[in-house]
Amino acid sequence: MADRCLSFTGTAPGRFLTRRLGLPRPAVLKRWSPERPDLEGGLLHLTAGASALVRLAPVLARTGLGPDDTGRPAAVVLDATGVRDVDGLAGVHAALHPVVRSVATGGRVVVLGAPLDPADHHQAAAQQALEGFTRSLGKEIGGGRTANLVRLTDARAAESTLRFLLSPRSAYVSGQVIATGGQDATAPDDWNRPLAGRTALVTGAARGIGEAVAGTLAREGARVVVLDVPRAEQDARHVAERLGGTALPLDITAADAAARIAEALPDGLDVLVHNAGVTRDRRLANMPADLWHAVLDVNLGSVLRTTDALLSAGTLKPGGRIVATASIAGIAGNTGQTNYGASKAGITGLVRSLAPRALAGHGVTVNAVAPGFIETRMTAAVPLLIREAGRRMNSLAQGGLPADVAETTAWLAHPASGAVNGQVVRVCGQSMLGA
Ligand code: NAD
Repeated sequence: MADRCLSFTGTAPGRFLTRRLGLPRPAVLKRWSPERPDLEGGLLHLTAGASALVRLAPVLARTGLGPDDTGRPAAVVLDATGVRDVDGLAGVHAALHPVVRSVATGGRVVVLGAPLDPADHHQAAAQQALEGFTRSLGKEIGGGRTANLVRLTDARAAESTLRFLLSPRSAYVSGQVIATGGQDATAPDDWNRPLAGRTALVTGAARGIGEAVAGTLAREGARVVVLDVPRAEQDARHVAERLGGTALPLDITAADAAARIAEALPDGLDVLVHNAGVTRDRRLANMPADLWHAVLDVNLGSVLRTTDALLSAGTLKPGGRIVATASIAGIAGNTGQTNYGASKAGITGLVRSLAPRALAGHGVTVNAVAPGFIETRMTAAVPLLIREAGRRMNSLAQGGLPADVAETTAWLAHPASGAVNGQVVRVCGQSMLGA
């Protein structure tokens, strides 16, 4: 379903009318394309107080953004890792207040923070303050600009995260707090094809978000396996052919699903994307047990079963990546979606609990993407008024595209993203729901 408001506000009469009527004026987001792989403009690197980071400048220099010399930076990075108390927060204001108006349309503000120190409540208060600051900035900055906070201890380990946030790939990711650990990350030979030589399996990839994820992983060099239900086999085959991968017709809830996947991948698997999902909406009072079970089984039960089996069989190789699909419905809740909200909140629980153990025991990271309103067949079927509310009630005043979820998934699947583990990253344009 096309977003007519977005097309209309892109025209001169549209801009005039929406301004006069006080309607939302979404900016056309500048997403990744082969012609425009990087943000257009320079980077302004600021520091609040004494930095706790070493090696940040060379990492920023590798993002493809040179230093800003125009006074209209495409990105501003504020290193606030050294802020240890309330007085130190004045440095955040002093650094960003004079420049925030000059950030280019569609630009990025990335605030760098330190982990909260459990032994120092002044440091913890000041560092937690950065979350409220960044989220508020994301809500007011407008013009397709985003603001995100990265907590880090090692700039090199966070390089893939900084590259993602400082690129057009993160156009619909705003208001997020992403914690990265200190694990050393392996830089790929080619940052444009970081998944070269790797195998990725995407469930529910015959259409929608899963198809976009498979396409993005293939673009980044992966050999993709397109898994979908047998009745979608033809679509899955078309997608696989287009991407030079293979189709695997399989109902992920089948008792032998993990065994069939392992059998189809004798050389093992590097990236497992749990994307398949269904909705069966009814208010709880009207919901029969079979609709409850169908949603819990596809969206959560099968994810747990296949993850456990593929990890313990060693099908997922060391250095592997699991990316599951949650939803803001699992964070905010939604009328008529007790089953769906439960299943998606369950994904968050799975990720947070399993991530440290999967990394320690198997060298595999576990993260989730939590999409907000994404323009797909699933959301095209939502009644008009609810659809418009879902689409507009976010800082970017528009829905996301499957490509936005796909780019976020690809960053988490990246071999250099080993320091990102146990994170649930919302791809929601900073939705007001569940904020
Ligand atoms: P979609 O309905 O377009 O595609 C889902 C795919 O999963 C379909 O191809 C379907 O055949 C497949 N599938 C369903 N059950 C399966 C099973 N048992 N085994 C194998 N494959 C199965 O949905 P979408 O909008 O692309 O959503 C993809 C994921 O993103 C889902 O997990 C969904 O819950 C989640 N999500 C979507 C949105 C959104 O706005 N579209 C928002 C939040 C979360």
